[in-house]
Amino acid sequence: MGNAADTPMMRQYLELKAQVPDALLFYRMGDFYELFFDDAREAAELLDLTLTSRNKKDPDPIPMAGIPYHAVDGYMRRLVDSGRKVAIAEQRQASDNGGRRILTRELVRVVTPGVPWDTDELAARQACFLAGVCGKGPVGIAFLDISTGDLRVTEVPDLAAAAGELSRMEARELVLHPAIASRSELGELSAPATSPEPAWFDAEAAQRSVVDLLGVSDLMGLGAANLPNAVRAAGALITYVRETARIGLDNVHTLRPYSVGGRMVLDDATCRNLELLRPLVGTGRKGTLLALLDQTCTPMGGRLLREWVRRPLVDLDPIRRRQDAVEALMSRRIRAQLRESLGTVSDLARLSSRTAQGSANARDLVRLGASLRALPEPLSHLRTLPAFRGQLPEDLATDVADEIERWMVDDPPPSLNEGGLIRSGVRADLDAVVRLSREGRGAIARIEARERTSTGINSLKIKHNRVFGYFLEVTHANRSRVPETWIRKQTLTNCERYITPELKEFEESVLGADERRKALEYELFVQLRERVAAHSPRLQRLARVVAYVDVIAGLAELAVANRYCRPVVDDSDCLELVASRHPVVETMGMEERFVPNDVTLSGEKRLAILTGPNMAGKSTVMRQVALIALMAQIGSFVPARTARVGVCDRIFVRVGASDDLAHGRSTFMVEMSETAFILNHATPRSLILLDEIGRGTSTYDGLSIAWAVAEAVHDRLGARAIFATHYHELVRLADEREAVFNVHVAIREWKDRIIFLRALREGGASRSYGIQCARLAGMPAPVIARARALLSGLEQAATAVTPREPGPPESGQPSEPDPLRAAIAEISPDDLTPRQALDLVYRLCSL
Ligand code: ADP
Repeated sequence: MGNAADTPMMRQYLELKAQVPDALLFYRMGDFYELFFDDAREAAELLDLTLTSRNKKDPDPIPMAGIPYHAVDGYMRRLVDSGRKVAIAEQRQASDNGGRRILTRELVRVVTPGVPWDTDELAARQACFLAGVCGKGPVGIAFLDISTGDLRVTEVPDLAAAAGELSRMEARELVLHPAIASRSELGELSAPATSPEPAWFDAEAAQRSVVDLLGVSDLMGLGAANLPNAVRAAGALITYVRETARIGLDNVHTLRPYSVGGRMVLDDATCRNLELLRPLVGTGRKGTLLALLDQTCTPMGGRLLREWVRRPLVDLDPIRRRQDAVEALMSRRIRAQLRESLGTVSDLARLSSRTAQGSANARDLVRLGASLRALPEPLSHLRTLPAFRGQLPEDLATDVADEIERWMVDDPPPSLNEGGLIRSGVRADLDAVVRLSREGRGAIARIEARERTSTGINSLKIKHNRVFGYFLEVTHANRSRVPETWIRKQTLTNCERYITPELKEFEESVLGADERRKALEYELFVQLRERVAAHSPRLQRLARVVAYVDVIAGLAELAVANRYCRPVVDDSDCLELVASRHPVVETMGMEERFVPNDVTLSGEKRLAILTGPNMAGKSTVMRQVALIALMAQIGSFVPARTARVGVCDRIFVRVGASDDLAHGRSTFMVEMSETAFILNHATPRSLILLDEIGRGTSTYDGLSIAWAVAEAVHDRLGARAIFATHYHELVRLADEREAVFNVHVAIREWKDRIIFLRALREGGASRSYGIQCARLAGMPAPVIARARALLSGLEQAATAVTPREPGPPESGQPSEPDPLRAAIAEISPDDLTPRQALDLVYRLCSL
């Protein structure tokens, strides 16, 4: 480091930077936040800023990049969204020892992915969890959503389970105990992680900070007394938010322990393959199950539904309770009224949270009040329904709405410092200053009128600016009529400006009253906000109820709109779907009508081998089965005429490698490790759907692997499963294993073409129909013809060769080498690009 760094300013910078080594430090200098050294290089790269340097003449200049202070929000969000932390140091006036005023800087916030800057900017329908993890077994996990004050804890048996839970909750940032920070079981997680010193996880200290934060006497009442590691994790989160992020936690009122058991487990690959939250290609939510199911009217409802989708139930009672509630809202009138009212409810959870943290503005409070006002009427209708008995609180916080309405004007300005917030009649002292200011203004208008008459200058005006305050303005033409007593302040090209002592007197009372009014209104607003904040635990509870009702009403809306049925959910080993449809595909506006299908799996017939040509509809029907089971266990109705779903503890969906080209790793390896995962984790209660497993390698390899996996699923796991495969050879497994059966997606052959019927039929497909598909895809006719000839040759050869062991040529004469066979023997299908494959077909045709 050169001399350039050795200035008081840079010394201060380095001191602060040492406190936040893993954050990019935004160092306030006048109207800019400056970044230095590596921070500058990194920010310049990530944000496309110009990299300059400080003290260019120095032999070792310091790299520097600047951000104008008014644009800081956007830049900061981009850095944090890309997983970085940003520390902000602001300027402060201070005095040195000699009493001189000096400028110092102070760290005010560290903004991180899990503790964002402005919770207003967060996606409304997604929680924002910071997660703490501690212990190796049991592993304690704590989740905190700073935008709502939602703090939950759980314990899971091992780190692998913890990784699953972190991913299910979509944790945005992790605070890991150093002992597990480098454990490979957690290594796959993409969220950025910090591992602070072990003291942050100290059991006693953690317990104390939790108890203090929540104002309880011990952990017993919270139900967390026997979750020591979870409490340690929560303690570390509290320290992290206070000490690193440097914000308060006034919005956290309780800690909710929950159990990971009692929920269906959906691993990431299944979540991805079923397109639950994100589409396989593209961005956004279009085409996902969540987008279909999310008919909610409020952000809280949207967030809760997302959790439900990621974590369906396995216990019958709660599933049936949700179904009852959905059914109760099938009646159009109640639902329509309810949804209309919910449509006017804002984000109660985040609004009350901002209120508790003292960051809510006037508009936030008004929206909060209006939201509370919208609730009693529709909820009173729900109270009459048995399905909601005991679920709706008596306390709807109408007193809070009353108080807000009594104090706040209906449409306050965004700024808290300009007045215009508080109604008249609330406080006598405020009304008095408002009156004073109004009277002053009236007096000024009267002075204007009076002076016009007395001077006879009709164009005379009293105006106001920042420099002179109120003044009288007279055009040059009328200058001669100006009385002697006026004091001239300014001459402009076409007019002159004057003041009078009387005018100044009123000005003081107007301006003074205005200032007092603004200050008083601000003070009253803060008082009101504090009083509302005191009710925030009630508001948070209410927000949860609203979320529940909203999700249920949305599911009912969907069930009616798309003609769903209420599935029978039980603890049988059945899965019986009659006339079922794919919930998402059927709504995608296809050219052809969606053809409903029956699918039955049960203990005796639990493994279906599903065959049929490419594009027949195998993947669709498999995903349809998985999605229906999942929807049923969320409590939703399902797209079928009738449905019976024996509860699944897990659903596994895997897609063969060649259908999943997007990833960098050897796709075949991924496919195999994912299949291994299933074999190691599935139980007899699981539902397994394998689409074209074994396709990523050569034919015989692939067939053998698919075969062995199917056997293992049947013999060892006994789980319900569907295997979609284009290896029609696999149909023979049904002869060998009692619970295996064949189904295929029917097609009709017509004049050498195939017509997709989309209908599931019993039995296996007899052929692969690859050539017909190639023809559909537009392959030139001569190539198709040649392929047909080749195929029949190969099929004959296969039947001729298979039964026999290879032996010497029969005639004893060395046979003519067949160029076609030789060429085919050289082919290594896995190494061919599509282009090479096509070239190859041409070459084979020419032989
Ligand atoms: P495969 O897995 O057999 O190659 P897919 O499941 O990908 O076939 O389906 C191919 C196309 O057929 C999809 O575009 C899908 O929209 C359509 N499809 C599938 N099932 C049906 C159905 N039951 N009714 C109408 N269209 C369907």
